[in-house]
Amino acid sequence: MAQDCLICERVRSAKEGKNPYFIHEFKNSYLVIGDHQYFKGYSVLLLKDHIRELHDLPSARQQELFLELMAAGKAVFEAFRPWKMNYSCYGNQIPHVHWHIFPRYESDPDHLHQPWLHSPDFGKHPTQESDRIELIAHIKANLK
Ligand SMILES: [Zn+2]
Repeated sequence: MAQDCLICERVRSAKEGKNPYFIHEFKNSYLVIGDHQYFKGYSVLLLKDHIRELHDLPSARQQELFLELMAAGKAVFEAFRPWKMNYSCYGNQIPHVHWHIFPRYESDPDHLHQPWLHSPDFGKHPTQESDRIELIAHIKANLK
C-alpha cells in the first residue's frame, strides 16, 4: 500500500467491504465498475498490490492476472454484448497496475478509434447509484 495512491485507497475500501463500486474479488485483483459509464459497462481491474509495472510482477502472477482480466472482460462482454472489447493499462497518472475494460458499441462516435479520444466527456456520464447496482449485478451474474 502506498500513501496518496487512489487505487490503493480503492483496494483498501474493497478489502473492508466498503467500496460501492466493487463487483468481484479475484486472487490478485478486484473488479470494480467504472466511475463513469460513457461506455456502458466500463469497468476497471485493480491489482491488489501497489506495483508500477506489469513486468515487475513475478511471472506466475502475471499469468494469473491475465486470466483474471480475461474472466472480467468475458463477463462484461456477456453482460452487454458490445461490438468490441478494448483493454488498456497505462499507470502514467496513477502508478499502480490497473486495467481499463471498455465495452465498445457500433453506435459509439468514432468506434473505430481508441476510447480515450472521448476522455474529456467521461466525467459528464458519472455512474449513477441506481444504475451502478444494476450494472454490478449484471456483470456478477456473467462471471464464470
Ligand atoms: Zn497504489
